[in-house]
Amino acid sequence: MLGAPGAGKGTQAERLARARRIPKISTGDILREAVQTGTQIGRRAKAIMDRGELVGDDVMIGIVRERLDRPDAAAGFVLDGFPRTVAQAEALDGIMRGRTPLVVIDIDVPEEELIRRLASRLVCVICGSNATPPAEAASLVCAKCGGKLIQRSDDNASTVRDRLAVYRAKTMPLLDFYKARPTFRSISGAATPDGVAEELARTVDSVLGAGAGR
Ligand code: AMP
Repeated sequence: MLGAPGAGKGTQAERLARARRIPKISTGDILREAVQTGTQIGRRAKAIMDRGELVGDDVMIGIVRERLDRPDAAAGFVLDGFPRTVAQAEALDGIMRGRTPLVVIDIDVPEEELIRRLASRLVCVICGSNATPPAEAASLVCAKCGGKLIQRSDDNASTVRDRLAVYRAKTMPLLDFYKARPTFRSISGAATPDGVAEELARTVDSVLGAGAGR
């Protein structure tokens, strides 16, 4: 799943993974967990994440290679937040060799809307889910687990500006990397979460029905 910060990748990846009973693998979630538990990778990643920059390709590729090797990913997975650079995408092609082809979906949202969404996004301190405004956000309590809802530390205005600049410089070139593939699609992420989820499901089915994955 490709898209800028705030495009809805995490929310949509989670819904798709749940519907297809396959794991959602989010590199942002893996890193945030490493920061919380204080592993060596987490300690190094924290400052980089707080600046809105990208953790090194070698570290990220190692994390994803190890995760995709686990048995629960054998029948499929939804990747959220990876790849973010052309080097990561090239490594992913290597990791996928011998497996069914990647379906690559870009979720496209105008930049003003991304900034608006990120400024008001709240996440649960316990389960990491995004809150669905406005009802849940007003109570500041997670509907899934009852945890407290807070703003992500990298969703403040200045880090958001840096993350969007990093997205434009490092991740947008992935659209050129993937766009000629028959398994690539771009969908609009401007609709409601339900509307985007429906279009995403239809799009994935149409790519799979056209032969990918057989
Ligand atoms: P996310 O939750 O996907 O917005 O990721 C949060 C932060 O984790 C990013 O701003 C990066 O600092 C780091 N991160 C997540 N995924 C990657 C990746 N594939 N490559 C490099 N850094 C990443």
